[in-house]
Amino acid sequence: MNKQESLDKLKKEMSKDKSLPLRDGATNLVFGEGNPNADLVFIGEGPGYWEDIKARPFVGNAGSLLNQLLHSIELSRSEVFITNVVCYRPPGNRDPLPEEIAAFQKYLDRIIEIIEPEIIVTLGRFSMAKFLPGVKISSVHGKHYDVDWKGKRLVVVPMYHPAAALRRSEILQQEKDDFLKLKEYIEKMPKNQSKQMELIL
Ligand code: URA
Repeated sequence: MNKQESLDKLKKEMSKDKSLPLRDGATNLVFGEGNPNADLVFIGEGPGYWEDIKARPFVGNAGSLLNQLLHSIELSRSEVFITNVVCYRPPGNRDPLPEEIAAFQKYLDRIIEIIEPEIIVTLGRFSMAKFLPGVKISSVHGKHYDVDWKGKRLVVVPMYHPAAALRRSEILQQEKDDFLKLKEYIEKMPKNQSKQMELIL
């Protein structure tokens, strides 16, 4: 089974899972979307109004900003994979509760295991806490962390949630700067380094 088929199977399994919280109040499951072979996975918080209606992650105002930020470093959504820590919309867009995040964890972990990204970008404090518990986003945003995740090496780059960047201009500037740093981290990925070596030789 290839990665796309594995993701499709997981999505089907998830949509049938009646034990998942937030399901009853939601219109659609927002599983996540993008390239199953992506080097980069972005993890947000949870679907909002438009995501719930369209069954797609980051398609509202925060999503437009995310698209622009990706574009600023010459990436498109089709090259990365985007998902959330909870995949049904919390009522009134409230913060997801710890037990809700815990219930979705096994599915998010499977998504990461299937895609095997080099870099995970966490958008906001809920996804950041999954990999970097106990840190403050204001101190760590834009840095890169080598994380041993289930025995595999991952680079985690915590960033502010785009919705926070829409609310405060100083955060927007930091988010733009953090995306430029992300571009450098991507260029330094082992596989891109060897591509550059091939070009030089
Ligand atoms: N905010 C999120 O955290 N995720 C989405 O998919 C949309 C908005």
